[in-house]
Amino acid sequence: MWNLDPGGLEPSKDLPLLSNTGDIRIRHYLINLDVKFTEKIFTGALIIFLEPASEKEKKDGILKSHGGDQSSEKQSNNVAEGNCSKDGAKYVGVIDKDGNNQEGEIGQDTNRVQMGQKEENGSMESESELVGKDLTNDSGDGIKKDKVLTPGCTEGKTHREWFTCILDCCDIVVDSVEEIKLDDHVKSIRGDADKLLSSENSNSRDVDNCEDKKEDKGPRKIFVESETKLSNLLGYRRCNFKERNAAFTACLHLPGESLSFKVGDWSLSIWKKGIRKVEDFPSVIRIVYSTMAKGHSFTWTFDQLGRECVFSQGAWINNRSLFPCQEPPGAMATWQAFIQTPKEYVVLMSGDEKAETRVTSTGMITSYYYVDMVMPPSMLAVAIGQWQGVDLPIDVKSSEQEDTIKIVYDHKSRGTSCDHEPWPCRINASHQPVIPARIFAPRSILPLAEEEFGGRIPGFLNAAFKILGPHPFSRLDLVILPRCFASMGLASPSIVFISQSLLSGDGSLCSRLAHEITHSWFGLLIGAMDWTEEWLSEGFATFLEDPVQSIAENWTKEKFHEISNLRALLRFKALKAEIENTASELQIMRPMGDQSHTRDALLVGYVKNGRHPDKWFLQVHYLKGYFLLHYISEIVGLESLLHVMSTYVSTFHGRLVLSREFFKILFDMCPKLSENGINQDVIDNEWLDSPGIPKILNQERFIKGNKLIEQVVSEVTKWETVDTHFRIKDKGKLKKKTCPELPDVNVNLSSEQLCLLLEHLLQSGRLRQKTLAKLREDFELHLKNAEIRHRWCELVIKHRFMDGYGDIRMFLLKDQSMGVYLYGELLASEDPIQRLLAETCYEAVAMVMDRGCRRTVEEMLGIQQSK
Ligand SMILES: [Zn+2]
Ligand SMILES: [Zn+2]
Repeated sequence: MWNLDPGGLEPSKDLPLLSNTGDIRIRHYLINLDVKFTEKIFTGALIIFLEPASEKEKKDGILKSHGGDQSSEKQSNNVAEGNCSKDGAKYVGVIDKDGNNQEGEIGQDTNRVQMGQKEENGSMESESELVGKDLTNDSGDGIKKDKVLTPGCTEGKTHREWFTCILDCCDIVVDSVEEIKLDDHVKSIRGDADKLLSSENSNSRDVDNCEDKKEDKGPRKIFVESETKLSNLLGYRRCNFKERNAAFTACLHLPGESLSFKVGDWSLSIWKKGIRKVEDFPSVIRIVYSTMAKGHSFTWTFDQLGRECVFSQGAWINNRSLFPCQEPPGAMATWQAFIQTPKEYVVLMSGDEKAETRVTSTGMITSYYYVDMVMPPSMLAVAIGQWQGVDLPIDVKSSEQEDTIKIVYDHKSRGTSCDHEPWPCRINASHQPVIPARIFAPRSILPLAEEEFGGRIPGFLNAAFKILGPHPFSRLDLVILPRCFASMGLASPSIVFISQSLLSGDGSLCSRLAHEITHSWFGLLIGAMDWTEEWLSEGFATFLEDPVQSIAENWTKEKFHEISNLRALLRFKALKAEIENTASELQIMRPMGDQSHTRDALLVGYVKNGRHPDKWFLQVHYLKGYFLLHYISEIVGLESLLHVMSTYVSTFHGRLVLSREFFKILFDMCPKLSENGINQDVIDNEWLDSPGIPKILNQERFIKGNKLIEQVVSEVTKWETVDTHFRIKDKGKLKKKTCPELPDVNVNLSSEQLCLLLEHLLQSGRLRQKTLAKLREDFELHLKNAEIRHRWCELVIKHRFMDGYGDIRMFLLKDQSMGVYLYGELLASEDPIQRLLAETCYEAVAMVMDRGCRRTVEEMLGIQQSK
């Protein structure tokens, strides 16, 4: 077994980050892949455009170099000790769990981190024999096959002498790695470069902020010196994005020269014989490769109509099994992607604009996407299937009432300059309250999705604009993923994946759409520098659910107050339950503690608990983050806090932050906090760095004077009376006289009220079967939203209410990710019938279940693990 290494990496829980981003940076990814549904793989090439790390990046990262005398033994065996810089955060696609679901590769591959390829005594000649020699020779002579290095292969060796570029990846079969020498191909791209240079000053995209800010000439020397002036192609300081992308694309078909490489379990190492310095390392590299069906970045499955589809699922490993990349937080780049599919498929992807498509000579469709904003490779999300789409209206009906939350983003007072890498930034340039949005789904559910979400999304976009200002991305696609999707939502730039479980027919779960929309700002536009400060995205998005919905739907302040406190109570119960069942180390909002605001903390070569099996069940960061913001809003007022948030966005957009930076703005703008004795120390001690629930937080504060909650409490009493009625009645005639009448129960409770009622009933004593039957019938519980049905199923399990087992079955088949928790309940009861129910449901869906969910359920059932 793998032991803890000196750096503290726990392979079963932590996620390694091996790229040497302190040495070299990828500035642009060019992805060109074919989708092969029959084999469940992508195959094609990745071209990366590299530069030596800038002085700042070196300083931010680890100064260790892989060149010179660094032994590969060291880098291979000492994962946690670094070889990588970690100078920022994971701007990862943001996954929303419901506490019951999880994903990915839980608890498996505990030895994956073992990079055990020790330096062998092979000669350099044998190394070079291992690498592909001629890309253009694909005549199938068998040589290439011999050269294929699979993960875990120990053949290829990095060299202690030559500079080595290390990329993060896993489950990828690399066919060849080649240097593309632009110098040799000046002519083929001369036209583009000339055009680029001549249009340098006439380009008119709204990027006025990016001309003169980056004076960082030194590290880019390599390009400037290059005859073809690659820096012009990179357009790094010029922002001629369109021409630049065209020039990159021209590199797709240039021949290359073989480079040495080695594929490890978690990395791809590339070096060039004779090159010792990063400055001399190739600047354009093509990697010809295929993904593997077992790769965890993707779910290959069937849509709701039984047709093949594939989507990135927001895995622990991000996109590492899709393409080799630099994962350490802070390593950001632009990208382009060409994806070839059979013609009936639609490729939906994060990208600045909708796909450009064209039909290839072989009758396939190529979909082209690009992103001009520099972003981490983990942000790329893709869903390929036979989706149908519908455009949503851009207009928003506004009928503002008097007493609503008044917040209007003020461009003038908050328009600051951009302090990020140059790209066509929208934050100070756009005044578009509602961006174009579309919904995609298989045609069987598209009308339902359009009816339920379509009318709401423009309003939510508009409300988010009012609070936070311009949308960071210029468009939005929502994709309703198949039932196996293991999250409630996954937000990536310009694209949001939504669970079908959110379609309830009555719009009662639509606040989750508000949540996903606000991730465009929190989680995507502003990332956490300390990757583990997840609350900076999840806490903010959860907190904004209620204000966004309130503004979009013109709630009065009173209505907002009532509903948001009712929701707060439900969230409080969820947090309390979770805290009781979670290891205390996982309850901390800032797991890196004090370290998280020092650079030292960023030097570790892994993400703490990045693959922790329990973590995917947890909502602690969502809920504690939410309650921290809720608490602050109670003191300073909601509108003030929203104002602080928009200032925070203008100040830090496009950058990586620590929570401290948010609090600095907060304390500056809200002196009321310190007047109330709240300072950074209090926040650190009581909220960020401690497990458990802060003392100040108790449910009474939400209950007090709340009419919606009072209503529920009186309904609970009625249902207790109902139960007494049935109990006495069942006992026979003798007691009949004292039997209370059946009370008039209120069946018009809101969805949240009904959730709260069921929570109460779950906490109270035993209920008669007749009470449960009446409850189901009166409220038509089996037809309600997934949150309500989930609580109903818990009640059914608790009381072994066999008439409700059909509802559990439906839940486990349809709401697969939320259902994982119910499997646990069914088995914990040790009731043979409930066990049988769990087993038969598992058998019915196992083949289409998310792999992570499936593995967890199999573990519960004691079934031999599926591969
Ligand atoms: Zn979220
Ligand atoms: Zn900007």
